[in-house]
Amino acid sequence: MPPAAHAQIDLEALTHNLGRIRSLAPNSNIMAVIKANAYGHGAIPVARALAAADAFAVARVDEGIALREAGIRQRITVLQGFLGEEELMLHSRYDLEPVIHSAKQTEILESANLDNPVTVWLKLDSGMHRLGFAAEEFVACHDRLCRCRSVCQPPFLITHLANADELDDPVTERQLDLFGTQVAGLPGGRSIANSAGLLAWENALAEWVRPGIALYGVSPFPNRTAADEGLKPVMTLRTRLIAIKPLKAGAAVGYGGDWVCNRPTLLGIAAIGYGDGYPRHARSGTPVLVRGQRVPLVGRVSMDMITLDLTDCQQAEVGDAVTLWGEGLPVEEIARHADTIPYVLLCNVTPRVKRVVGRRPE
Ligand SMILES: *Cc1c(COP(=O)(O)O)cnc(C)c1O
Repeated sequence: MPPAAHAQIDLEALTHNLGRIRSLAPNSNIMAVIKANAYGHGAIPVARALAAADAFAVARVDEGIALREAGIRQRITVLQGFLGEEELMLHSRYDLEPVIHSAKQTEILESANLDNPVTVWLKLDSGMHRLGFAAEEFVACHDRLCRCRSVCQPPFLITHLANADELDDPVTERQLDLFGTQVAGLPGGRSIANSAGLLAWENALAEWVRPGIALYGVSPFPNRTAADEGLKPVMTLRTRLIAIKPLKAGAAVGYGGDWVCNRPTLLGIAAIGYGDGYPRHARSGTPVLVRGQRVPLVGRVSMDMITLDLTDCQQAEVGDAVTLWGEGLPVEEIARHADTIPYVLLCNVTPRVKRVVGRRPE
C-alpha cells in the first residue's frame, strides 16, 4: 500500500535537467540555485545529487552554512549576502560568497579584518529594482571592492532579470544592454541568467548561469510545461485514497457545501490537504491522477483531505495511489487551477510530507 502524503524526489530527473541546462549553455558554468530547501525538494540530497554543478546559490547565510556542515564542497553564493559584520565573518569562516548590493556592505568589508578574504559578487540593479547598485553607483563601488583587502580579486559581476519569462517583453534587452555597458572592460566573471534567461535569452548566458526552477523540471514560462523545455519533473507529490462512498444527487460535499452532486456520485477521499501544502485555492475541476486516470477535485480543500469525483473511475479502490502533481501531471497545470505559480506549490510542501529520495520508491 502506498504511504500517506509523500513527495518522491527523482534524482535521475534532477541530473537529467542539469545535463539539459549544460547543453543549452555549453560555455557557461552552472550555479545551481538551491535556496528555500531546494524549492522544497530538500537542499542536502539535491546538492549531493548535483555533484556536477560548478557552484550553488542560496538566499541566506544560514542556508549556506547548513550545506557546508553537510559536507558540500562546491562554491556557494549567498544571494542576499550579509547584513552585518557578524554575518560577514560567517561567510569568511564557511567559505561562502556574498552578493554585494549596498554601500553599507561595502563599508563593512572595508572595515573588516578577515583571516580569509571573501569572493564577492557585485550586483548591478539593471531594472529589477530589488537588490543591487544603481548604474551611477556601480563603478565607484567596483573600485572600492578592487582596493579592499578583505575581497578576493577581482569581484564577480551579477545582475538579475525581472521579465525573462515574458518572451516579447522589451525590458530584458534593456537590462542586458545596461549590464553590458556597466561591466564593459571590467575584469571578473559575469552572471545574468535565471532559468527563463538561459532557456530563452541567448545573450544572457555569460560565464555563469543561475538556474533554479528548471533544475526541478518545471518550465518558467506561462502556458508551457517541463516537456516543452526537454526537462523532467523532479518532485511527484502522492498520497492514497482513504475512503470511497456513493452519494445521491443533491448531496453537498465538504466545508461550506459549495460543491453539490448533480448526479449520483462516487466520491473519493484522499489523504492530503493544505496542511501538506496542497493549495487551498485549487478549484473544483483541478485534475488529480488515480490509477493513471485524471479525475476532478471537487469541493473545498481541507487541512488533511481532499475530495474527488470518482464517478468516471469506478475501478478505484481504497488504498490506491493518488498523484497530485509531478510524473504524468504537470505542476504547471495545477498552479493554473490554483491561481498561483509552480514555485509556490513546490516551496509550500510542508515538513509533514515525507521526502522519498530516489528513482521510484514504493
Ligand atoms: C531565485 C533566483 C534565481 C533562480 O531563479 P529561477 O527562476 O528559479 O531559475 C536566480 N538568481 C537569483 C538572484 C535568484 O534570486
